[in-house]
Amino acid sequence: MEIACLDLEGVLVPEIWIEFAQKTGIEELKATTRDIPDYDVLMKQRLRILDEHNLKIQDIQEVIATLKPLEGAVEFVNWLRERFQVIILSDTFYEFSQPLMRQLGFPTLFCHRLITDESGRVVDYKLRQADPKRQSIRALQTIYYRTIAAGDSYNDTTMLAEADAGILFHAPQNVIDEFPQFPAVHTYEDLKKEFIKASNRDLTL
Ligand SMILES: [Mg+2]
Repeated sequence: MEIACLDLEGVLVPEIWIEFAQKTGIEELKATTRDIPDYDVLMKQRLRILDEHNLKIQDIQEVIATLKPLEGAVEFVNWLRERFQVIILSDTFYEFSQPLMRQLGFPTLFCHRLITDESGRVVDYKLRQADPKRQSIRALQTIYYRTIAAGDSYNDTTMLAEADAGILFHAPQNVIDEFPQFPAVHTYEDLKKEFIKASNRDLTL
């Protein structure tokens, strides 16, 4: 049996924090792990900024509901789900990604959680586990699934390496250069072909 594991942001939907920063005009929220490598420091800063702007989870979800999946993503997910069981492995938060997941038809998603109080204020966040993408692949292997994974960035590379087959999609050139062992494609049509190639079944487009 085979399972397809996909990263979310950059693969099916835009980078959610960055789009959210653009929609709200809050420049400070554009910081990513590239600017602040310590994820805990970055998340604490994001939560503090949300507080300063009095943004509750309802307001955040309202803004995110105006975002759209990447062009062609919905069709691609539907195509993939007809041929594979599909799990999205992401470092996003359920509460944050929900409006976009709705547009994708709520495929299975393993990610993290935001903690809110009764008013909807985001008070904390809870990571599901360390190195969650790679650990999820390992867990699937213990129940004898063959895994094919696709992602766009550094935080996906341990998942791609652990999977039976790994594919880079929409990856920046520095990631492609650093990980030449993975095929790198940039369109959903080519990504479909890579999944077919990686499969041990006789699939067609
Ligand atoms: Mg990504």
